[in-house]
Amino acid sequence: MQFDFRNKIILITGGTRGIGKQVADDLYSLGATVLITGTNPKEVKTLNEAAEKGSKKKIYFAVDFLKPESVNQFLKEVKKYNRIDGLVNNAGINRLNPIQNAQVSDWDDMLNVNLTSPFLLLNAISPIMIQNGYGRIVNISSIFGVISKEKRSVYSATKFGIHGLTVGCSNDLARYNVLVNTVSPGFVLTDLTKKNLTKTEMATLSEIIPIKRMAETKDISNVVVFLLSNLNHYLTGQNIVVDGGYTN
Ligand code: NAD
Repeated sequence: MQFDFRNKIILITGGTRGIGKQVADDLYSLGATVLITGTNPKEVKTLNEAAEKGSKKKIYFAVDFLKPESVNQFLKEVKKYNRIDGLVNNAGINRLNPIQNAQVSDWDDMLNVNLTSPFLLLNAISPIMIQNGYGRIVNISSIFGVISKEKRSVYSATKFGIHGLTVGCSNDLARYNVLVNTVSPGFVLTDLTKKNLTKTEMATLSEIIPIKRMAETKDISNVVVFLLSNLNHYLTGQNIVVDGGYTN
């Protein structure tokens, strides 16, 4: 059986680059209409103009989860939809610092983007899914939502939190055929990783990871697509760690 996303509408936060873009592109090629958020209004405008010329099955929204007015405006737009079949809470930031140097502003910002924004979207979209008797939700955590290492206390606090949110929501929503899971990527080659790791660190990691390489965005997207698909009927509240065996 093939994945079939024709007639499915799926919202992906942070879908203009990295893992989120890969998921949005893959779902689009499988027939979905994808609602994609980006932070840069100019870029979003350009992307919408390009999409208008094509199939109109990619719709971009500008939202900054650090700006309350922007978030409120976005939630208003989202609530206008009568149907949203899938949600991927992917937007995330990671500022590395040992706890003794961590700033309260970093704590606030990481909580807002990594944990509050998924809460707000689950809260806004679950009623639409309940009404339609169908929904598939994937919250993107991290291996640092399962283990932690130095300089990652704040990031880990948000990413451990994500899976708590998943498990709780899975209990609230399973009876309505709304399934909620976490995907926890290992080290993926994206802008976020390139900013936080040196080339030497990346080479060392590729040695340590049992599969002997860092992940490509496609390695993560394949799992997200399965969880969102018509082939997932019975998996909910789980944390799928996609890390090439790093945490084994
Ligand atoms: P990325 O930096 O390439 O993309 C992050 C996305 O989040 C961007 O699209 C960005 O627009 C969005 N975002 C950032 N700040 C935002 C804000 N204030 N408001 C709204 N959106 C905002 O990162 P990525 O590597 O593709 O990461 C995607 C997700 O995967 C994140 O949640 C990250 O924590 C998680 N993750 C990444 C890795 C990795 O190795 N790259 C590993 C584990 C988990």
